[in-house]
Amino acid sequence: MNLKTPLKDVLHTTNDHIAVLGTMGLHTVEDFLFYLPRAHEDLSSIQTIAQSPLNEKVTIRGSIGALKIVRIRGGKYLISTMFRDTSDEAVEVIWFNQPHIKRMLPENSDVVLTGKIIEKSYKLQMQSPQFEIAGNRPLVHAGRLVAVYPQHDVINTKWLREKMVLVKDAIDLIAETLPAELLADEKLLSKKDAVRALHFPEKPEDVEDARQRMAFEEMFNVQTAALERKKMWQGEHQKRLQIPMNAELIKLFFASLKFKPTNSQKIAIYEILKDMEKDTAMSRLLEGDVGSGKTLVAVAVMATAIKAGGQCALMVPTEVLARQHAENVSRLLLTFHSYLEEQGMHDFIRLPHVALLTGSTPSPDARAIKIGLVNGTIDIVIGTHALIEEPVQFKDVKLVIVDEQHRFGVAQRARLKDKGNPHFLAMTATPIPRTLALTAYGDHDLSVLLEKPGNRKIIQTKVVAPDDRKTVELFIDHQISEGRQIFVVCPLITGSEAEEIKDVKSVEQETKRLKESFPHRRIATLHGRMLPKEKEDVLREFKAKEFDILVSTSVIEVGIDIPNSTIMIIEGAERFGLAQLHQFRGRVGRSDHQSHCFLFTTTVEQSKSPRLRAMEKYDSGFQLAEIDLKLRGPGEIFGFRQSGLPEFQFAQMFQPEFVLRARRAAERMMGVEGARAS
Ligand code: ADP
Ligand code: MG
Repeated sequence: MNLKTPLKDVLHTTNDHIAVLGTMGLHTVEDFLFYLPRAHEDLSSIQTIAQSPLNEKVTIRGSIGALKIVRIRGGKYLISTMFRDTSDEAVEVIWFNQPHIKRMLPENSDVVLTGKIIEKSYKLQMQSPQFEIAGNRPLVHAGRLVAVYPQHDVINTKWLREKMVLVKDAIDLIAETLPAELLADEKLLSKKDAVRALHFPEKPEDVEDARQRMAFEEMFNVQTAALERKKMWQGEHQKRLQIPMNAELIKLFFASLKFKPTNSQKIAIYEILKDMEKDTAMSRLLEGDVGSGKTLVAVAVMATAIKAGGQCALMVPTEVLARQHAENVSRLLLTFHSYLEEQGMHDFIRLPHVALLTGSTPSPDARAIKIGLVNGTIDIVIGTHALIEEPVQFKDVKLVIVDEQHRFGVAQRARLKDKGNPHFLAMTATPIPRTLALTAYGDHDLSVLLEKPGNRKIIQTKVVAPDDRKTVELFIDHQISEGRQIFVVCPLITGSEAEEIKDVKSVEQETKRLKESFPHRRIATLHGRMLPKEKEDVLREFKAKEFDILVSTSVIEVGIDIPNSTIMIIEGAERFGLAQLHQFRGRVGRSDHQSHCFLFTTTVEQSKSPRLRAMEKYDSGFQLAEIDLKLRGPGEIFGFRQSGLPEFQFAQMFQPEFVLRARRAAERMMGVEGARAS
């Protein structure tokens, strides 16, 4: 027997079983040995009947009497026998509807039973215990630590344990997959010892060491792959990518602002500029809660790239955001330039030419922009992904920034490589805990904006049950009289009579209802079925205070910046994930006015949900993400599902020391310099 031996030659089983194994991808001895247990159960202590607590799983050893088989109702069988342990205590044992057991357990067999002893009409009884004939061979199913395999209808744990014994000797042939040096440094079991310990552990520590080893290998492989992707992205050394850090520019830019940058912003800018000094392409993720001021960081580093004679591209997921970014970026750069003029330094940097290129840019304009990009008259182009999909060429693009990176795929990034392999900065408001980021975005270095800018007041958040609506509506009306504006988010566009959602609020119904309740207020509507142009008009008019209330679907979620809006109402809040609710809430709290967020639930019961209550308690996206992670798993962190987290059998994604250890090991083995360990 070797690792490639077909299972049919060694397992002594039926063709049917071999066929089922085939459907599970198990063809050879090697496949079979790597079908690893999902857990272990400690059945090592064998008790006497007298010692055994009732109604708890116990293992007992002794001999059985003759098996009686009787037919019961429904044509089923009942097997019963008496079991005596070594101290001659007895218990009745029964099995339902497993007539084959009669053949397997001859009278007076020495057996080990595992199950619960119960008291039934003043008698001790064990119902359908697991059994194993002890005899002279080592025990497989009890009296030891036993493996529990993944659930399967045909190939059950008991069968697997028995068959695994038949291929046990081949474990010695399993090749090592980690470098010897790494095994020594990290004090890990060899692969074959780990596999052996998982199938046939002697003691709990064996299992622990084996799981450690397997877990480490999984995480090490993920981290190595991430570092390799990073190396690929960085590609060749290119002198043209070296952008000298310009401290004076940053100082002047900060001086031109009407506020002071936060420490986090300064640190992030520094980290990015440090990367851009190198002759290999940056690959960095800038993570900052909604409203943490990522745009400012982007503008500071784009200005630096332009000063060095390069071009920049800024990509966002939607046209609305592209337009908003174009306005904000232009405004910041214009202010910067006016400031330089005041200082008599207009030669320091020319006023950058910013262009907006989206799917709805009229084609003559688009053509002009493309020409400007090729001949270098345009410094910054802002747009949607059309920017890289289309045959847009640059004179010398040195920096590409992507906002809300989870919508930016690997393939798109590969296409960027063809446009000159520029420095790459992804920005996201998804509060991914650092450890998770290392695993999910391991090919990026990470900068995090921890503080919120300005002296913003914490957004007052309240979960509101249906019967408390009226009070809140009065409050809202009062806020409108004070000049504030309101967002209302509904889960649906149009109402539905379908049972599960008939009580869930829709944009259309809610607009109608609000118009009746607030006849003196101006109410606008926004949803995904409107044309881009219509959406933009509504947003522009709302920003210009032509409306008091904006009723919308979740399209409002990403990046919209309307500081005068201070109230966010979320209808059917129970239908949204925590991180998504946090994103909605981030649409308010953008000015010095006190902001509020009301989470309306469809039923009273839902208003008690711990998830929603967490929104009242925490205002930090990072804290909420941790809670979401605990309550619902990583898939639920906003947009995270699509980002393709690796799947692990053993590795613990959320143990920071463990992830870091694997990361450091991968860096060591690949001979690359590690990122800051902060
Ligand atoms: P996000 O990180 O969500 O993209 P933005 O860049 O849109 O955040 O910034 C949110 C708001 O905070 C903007 O109105 C911006 O002008 C303002 N802002 C950014 N940095 C600061 C700062 N250091 N001090 C005060 N306000 C700031
Ligand atoms: Mg933003």
